[in-house]
Amino acid sequence: MNLILLGAPGAGKGTQAEIICEKLSIPAISTGNIIREALKNGTEMGLKAKAYMDEGKLVPDDVVIGIIRERLSEDDCQNGFILDGFPRTIPQAEALDQMGIVIDRVISIEVPDDKIAARMAGRRVCLKCGASYHTEYKKPAKEGICNACGSELVQRKDDAPETVLERLHVYHEQTEPLKGYYEKAGKLRLVEGQEEVKDTTALTLAALND
Ligand code: AMP
Repeated sequence: MNLILLGAPGAGKGTQAEIICEKLSIPAISTGNIIREALKNGTEMGLKAKAYMDEGKLVPDDVVIGIIRERLSEDDCQNGFILDGFPRTIPQAEALDQMGIVIDRVISIEVPDDKIAARMAGRRVCLKCGASYHTEYKKPAKEGICNACGSELVQRKDDAPETVLERLHVYHEQTEPLKGYYEKAGKLRLVEGQEEVKDTTALTLAALND
């Protein structure tokens, strides 16, 4: 199954992508994580993306389309994949179509902006393995430490409150029109993001099969 998870930054796409990835045994692909990894490794692409990311803006389409083209050609994607954070613009969605990739379902996780802003303030990530936590909703077993790899958890620079507002603005302006794009194709399902992660997961899994 080829899936896309849409939603505002902080709506919980990443967490749902990780859970579905385990349940369906297909890779979850996050362009944000790929870019952060490139930045950590000091690659040219990573350095180019940094300025956009730090300001809460989108990295140019040609850069992220190149990343996805390469990633989707890898062997582990041949039985399906979950895209988390791609596409984020109409040209990115058109690029997927042009690559001949057939998307089966697009789930948009819906959370109001005021809730997002509150949630983002508590988000913590592991810079080493990319796992994501929340100080209230998804606590690690040991405070401040990643369950998966034992590294320290930090707040992402782009989760700072002013940057979150800019990211929400960018989401409504550039990414939300994708709902219309996939609705027309009959692929879109809306899922109301719940307080409890497991409740959102139940709704998401149901939306994959209806
Ligand atoms: P994320 O972790 O998905 O919230 O992504 C973090 C940042 O990476 C975004 O705010 C953008 O600057 C950049 N980014 C990730 N995916 C994309 C994309 N599909 N198109 C443009 N920029 C992206």
